[in-house]
Amino acid sequence: MKRVCIVGAGNWGSAASMIIARNMKRYDHFENTVNMWVYEEMIDGRKLTEIINTEHRNVKYLPDHELPENVVAVPELLDAVCDCNVLVFVLPHQFLHRTCKTLKGRLPPDTIAISLIKGIDFNEEGVVLMTDMIKNELDIDVSVLSGANIANEIAAGKFCESTIGYADEENATTFYEMFNEKNFRISIVNDIESVQVFGAIKNVIALGAGFCDALEMGNNTKAALIRIGLLEIQRFARKYFGPINDAAMLESCGLADLITTCLGGRNRRCAEAFGRADGKRSWEELEAEMLNGQKLQGTSTCLEVMKILKRDNAVGDFPFMELIHNVAYEGAPISTIVDFPDEHAPA
Ligand code: NAD
Ligand code: 13P
Ligand code: CA
Repeated sequence: MKRVCIVGAGNWGSAASMIIARNMKRYDHFENTVNMWVYEEMIDGRKLTEIINTEHRNVKYLPDHELPENVVAVPELLDAVCDCNVLVFVLPHQFLHRTCKTLKGRLPPDTIAISLIKGIDFNEEGVVLMTDMIKNELDIDVSVLSGANIANEIAAGKFCESTIGYADEENATTFYEMFNEKNFRISIVNDIESVQVFGAIKNVIALGAGFCDALEMGNNTKAALIRIGLLEIQRFARKYFGPINDAAMLESCGLADLITTCLGGRNRRCAEAFGRADGKRSWEELEAEMLNGQKLQGTSTCLEVMKILKRDNAVGDFPFMELIHNVAYEGAPISTIVDFPDEHAPA
């Protein structure tokens, strides 16, 4: 019998809980109840967990949609994972490490996990994927799910696709059953690295798309930036992970996710506001004002990417990400977002 705990209850964690909870009821080999670890906070004098468990709504992070009654909010992480053997990590990436530290040594050995997180980190040795972070601390098999998946649209039941990347095929089947639905179509690839790199780096490119919108440059410019961004994502993945799975680029986790994020994501939206404020508002201020507790992933990823490219003397190979970084963090005017050097004429 498999019993699932969702680790995280933000915008995507809450939307994903709707899909998982429905699928738990379709299969006998999954327990119907889904635990969801909620980072506790008070909303108008009431605990968020209590609101979720009585009103079946995450009033802060997914207010417009009812959650199935078999989703149970739990405020203590170790209580939430207790007796569960399938974990779904879906937190802003900056909180993953300390969450794993709390879980270290506390999970049954047959536990498996899937990461829905889009982010990347670096240490002295190089790139650290979210699956590396989970594996290093918890020593369990981890798959990934990533795609063109704006959470609010999924919660509303609109058709879309997503990609599961796996290392262990049997576990991929479990995750397919947990996520695949008529309006949430899953494809599966035997690759956890490309899927994660695409999902993380596209959040940086989305900042460039937002600057383009602040300049009201129009659709041709946006399409050009998406195309150039796609090549830089691919180059980055190849540089750090060798011969990557090019076919995965055409799954939902690749080009499709880049497109949706550059059209409708939070990173794009906040970057447009940053551009329109012309350097007078900080990212922290805009995030707090525009996202009501939700978190940007592209800004910290942009800093991390630049750190490793500088270390490896490779900034010149990624002109778009350098332009984005300069606007986002070096005070360069947003009009410079299309100042591509001639020697990097698009390949
Ligand atoms: P979110 O942006 O809604 O983040 C808010 C969440 O962070 C809340 O649950 C909050 O309680 C939690 N939080 C705040 N401080 C915390 C702390 N100290 N420790 C632990 N948790 C804390 O989160 P989200 O949208 O669910 O995103 C999670 C991941 O999923 C991200 O990597 C994101 O890129 C990815 N993702 C998001 C979407 C989307 O549309 N929202 C879609 C696909 C992927
Ligand atoms: P944002 O975090 O920019 O909203 O992107 C969401 C996403 O990953 C869509 O697939
Ligand atoms: Ca069941």
